[in-house]
Amino acid sequence: MISIVCPFYNEQDVVEAFFGRLVRVLDDTGEEFEIICVNDGSTDNTLLGLLAAQGRHPGVRVVDLSRNYGKEAALTAGLDIARGDAVIPIDADLQDPPELIAQLIEKWREGFEVVLAQRVDRSTDGWFKSHSAGWFYRIHNRLANVQLAENVGDFRLMDRCVVEAVRQLPERRRFMKGIFAWVGFRTTAVEYVRASRLGGASKFSGWRLWNLALEGITSFSTIPLRVWTYVGLVVALASLAYGAFIVAYTLIHGADLPGYGSLLVTVTFLGGLQLIGLGVIGEYLGRTYTESKQRPIYIVRKIHEQKT
Ligand code: UDP
Ligand code: MG
Repeated sequence: MISIVCPFYNEQDVVEAFFGRLVRVLDDTGEEFEIICVNDGSTDNTLLGLLAAQGRHPGVRVVDLSRNYGKEAALTAGLDIARGDAVIPIDADLQDPPELIAQLIEKWREGFEVVLAQRVDRSTDGWFKSHSAGWFYRIHNRLANVQLAENVGDFRLMDRCVVEAVRQLPERRRFMKGIFAWVGFRTTAVEYVRASRLGGASKFSGWRLWNLALEGITSFSTIPLRVWTYVGLVVALASLAYGAFIVAYTLIHGADLPGYGSLLVTVTFLGGLQLIGLGVIGEYLGRTYTESKQRPIYIVRKIHEQKT
């Protein structure tokens, strides 16, 4: 059996179309499926839509979370209750074409444990999103000790063994792309063209994306934390050299008063540098703090199973 896992957050406009297209594709493959819909605290009629769809289509399970926990947590909830031999997370807005599922399964049958769906172009994402994404991947892969495949979202197929591995990672702050990459396994990719959103609006604004990027880098790299030793070393050495220069200069030319400008620049520059350093420590400390509280990643209000 294959599990489809889909997080829904205020997606009432697309629920029907989503099931219409997904179910048609799944029927064509001839495999056995379950469709796990995680309602991530939607404030619109998404849940009603999901329950209606459950009445119409077999194999639909609806997980209703107690509030909005974010896509990463919703996905985790879906992976936790999935029972399939392979699991495919997919977005509700049909930006990930369900038609690709047949190809994902085909590669899986060939023996790959992870089959990524890779976008060949991001033109539907707009200039800012695709460029900032490019920068994020470059910086992340430079800093972190797991390499993220570029232009790959959460849409992919994972074998049961991969899902079990992912579930062993206990962190509360979940950067799924990184977690998926971290567990490794035999991986291949199939390509697709990403469509634009079917309806509704994207839930990932600039600020949310920025935070996701921070999450990614701080989850898988400690370089931002450690780099300050070296920055400090360089600044200290430079100021030592400058001190030596002043001593020599004073011995040769005598003391003169000017220097107010350079003094102010040095003080403010160093002040800024220290604040940045503190901020970075704060980022990590904050994360350590949330991890140490050991709160569950999500709370389920109810799992609506199919009535038989
Ligand atoms: N989503 C969610 N919880 C959230 C935000 C988003 O479950 O807090 C779901 C959303 O319903 C959709 C998927 O995550 O199924 C991707 O969201 P979206 O399409 O807004 O992201 P984008 O495609 O713009 O990156
Ligand atoms: Mg989308």
